[in-house]
Amino acid sequence: MIDDDGFAQPCLQVLSPNVDARPANTVIDMIVIHNISLPPQHYGGNGIMALFTNQLDPAEHPYYAEIAHLKVSSHFLIRRDGELIQFAACAQRAWHAGLSSWQGRERCNDFSIGIELEGSDVEAFTEVQYLTLQTLLTALKLRYPIKHIVGHSEIAPGRKTDPGPFFDWERIV
Ligand SMILES: [Zn+2]
Repeated sequence: MIDDDGFAQPCLQVLSPNVDARPANTVIDMIVIHNISLPPQHYGGNGIMALFTNQLDPAEHPYYAEIAHLKVSSHFLIRRDGELIQFAACAQRAWHAGLSSWQGRERCNDFSIGIELEGSDVEAFTEVQYLTLQTLLTALKLRYPIKHIVGHSEIAPGRKTDPGPFFDWERIV
């Protein structure tokens, strides 16, 4: 399901320009779970795709004006209906973690794959999101020597809170 470049098949691709090469000889051994919704707690729109492709209109919502300048991306997004969208090949470095560290290693973007769940810190994720997530995690673990599956809040404590208290870690393996 994950090809040699790190594209999931089948999967809708919306390629982000906000990617670059991982450092040479990087072993991808971490998956970072996030949540995102744009506008916050509004689901189903095109805001996330617009943000990750630098097309967010700052005039469309006050929150968009705050974040439209950001150059960010993630490898994957899982929408509320379970749809999987890929923005970057796993072989490339997506810009999802920001300032981060884990067990003494800095810059987690270098060696991680980012998965965004459409959601927020204040309500549960959907059943189909967990189903898609587990299918994706299983495929990624077959392709890469994943050792750590962590929340954004764990690698950027005090700065990030996602995936938040409603993410059920016992639902994934
Ligand atoms: Zn995050």
